[in-house]
Amino acid sequence: MFLCIVFEQASILVLTVWWCLSYYRCLLETINGSITENDKLLELIFVAKQIAILGSTGSIGRNALRVIDALGPEYQVFALSAHSNVELLAEQARRHKPRFVAVTNSEYIAQLREFLGGLDVEILAGPEGLTEIAELEEVDIVLTAVVGAAGLPAVLAAAKCGKQLAIANKEPLVVAGQLLVSEAKKNGGTILPVDSEHSAIFQAMQSGTREEVNKIILTASGGPFRGATVEDIRNVTLEQALAHPVWNMGPKITVDSATMMNKAFEIIEARWLFDMPVDKIEVLIHPESIVHSLVEFVDGSVIAQLGEPDMCLPIQYALTYPQRVAGISRRLRLEQIGNLTFEKPDFQTFRSLPLAYEVARTDGAAAAVFNAANEAAVEEFLAGGIEFVNIIELIEHCLDKHNVITSASLEELFEADAWAREEVRIKVHRSPTEKQVS
Ligand code: NDP
Ligand code: MG
Repeated sequence: MFLCIVFEQASILVLTVWWCLSYYRCLLETINGSITENDKLLELIFVAKQIAILGSTGSIGRNALRVIDALGPEYQVFALSAHSNVELLAEQARRHKPRFVAVTNSEYIAQLREFLGGLDVEILAGPEGLTEIAELEEVDIVLTAVVGAAGLPAVLAAAKCGKQLAIANKEPLVVAGQLLVSEAKKNGGTILPVDSEHSAIFQAMQSGTREEVNKIILTASGGPFRGATVEDIRNVTLEQALAHPVWNMGPKITVDSATMMNKAFEIIEARWLFDMPVDKIEVLIHPESIVHSLVEFVDGSVIAQLGEPDMCLPIQYALTYPQRVAGISRRLRLEQIGNLTFEKPDFQTFRSLPLAYEVARTDGAAAAVFNAANEAAVEEFLAGGIEFVNIIELIEHCLDKHNVITSASLEELFEADAWAREEVRIKVHRSPTEKQVS
């Protein structure tokens, strides 16, 4: 009894001190409008988690900042990065007061300085800036929200430093998943998925042991061309490809959703994140995007994670894991949704899906070629240089021409990546009479 009272009193005292410190911090911020030595002291007292966001100006990056804002003083923004949108980066720096900002496209450094004015923040430039951020000793969590394989060196650096990686940037996992996972494991780091399907699988997996998992079922909205035939997609426009029926995302992943390359990548992503053979990973079309993915256990039980199609929830879970806290994600009201529907994917119209299984079984540098050819082709499509159907044709062309090797070093992966990009460039930009991609 006596011990209970002492414990209760101690808890009240700790809570009161915590509240007073929070209040004091708010007061200081209001008065000074900037980070002070007192803030630093308070951060230490709170043992706040220091977060670096790679690609803070993108769709995931902007959502991540909203999530962190709502999480309160236990989560601090330590570093941010952009490629060229320095106006937004400077705005984010003024609001979130990181110690470092990086601009990966060095051409924008002068402009960034101008936008930052006299703000007390260290500036890093060039692709190396991203790696430097990922390696910063003070950083606890590296949230990777850069688009494409450009994020690979920084993600790898974070894994080698044993950081907690909250990984949205799926392309590095596609290209070098085995290496990333083994580096994180070797150096005591963790990789937590931000991709909604993989976050769902990660959550569902907690219902049993790894050995009890029978298969993974990745759901897919089906994108804007769900139900289309091979003929139908011949004439689709860029505008149609960018009009995703459910998710609001950056342009590259939106096109990837239209070709279903996004799901193809997610098959490979799941393979590495969950150490799962690809023949135990299935795709299921679910247009409402409410069931974010499912895990079937050996006893036949299927556990799914449901939620509104809102990236704030998986972003937050990757930051607060293993805790769950109240946040800003939209609440699910199933009675308003009504029906949830499911259908088999169409492997004929969306050739990216069978290709993903083939690539995953090929190993070596095939996945690097698969990804790089897609990145280069999507870039051409976004620039108006090729038709929608040419994207998959170019990927198939590169995979056919690629010399398969059994295992690939990091250097060989980069070489395969560069080769595939060049192959796409040559194929697209050769003389008009030859230009037909076949
Ligand atoms: P966006 O295009 O919206 O944002 C990309 C971010 O990366 C921006 O900050 C951009 O800077 C930066 N960036 C662009 N090019 C480079 C480069 N060469 N080097 C370094 N940084 C660069 O993408 P999303 O936020 O939609 O997607 C980010 C990643 O998350 C992708 O890998 C995607 O597959 C994955 N993902 C996204 C989801 C979503 O809902 N959006 C869902 C699940 C996964 P700047 O703004 O200056 O150009
Ligand atoms: Mg996804």
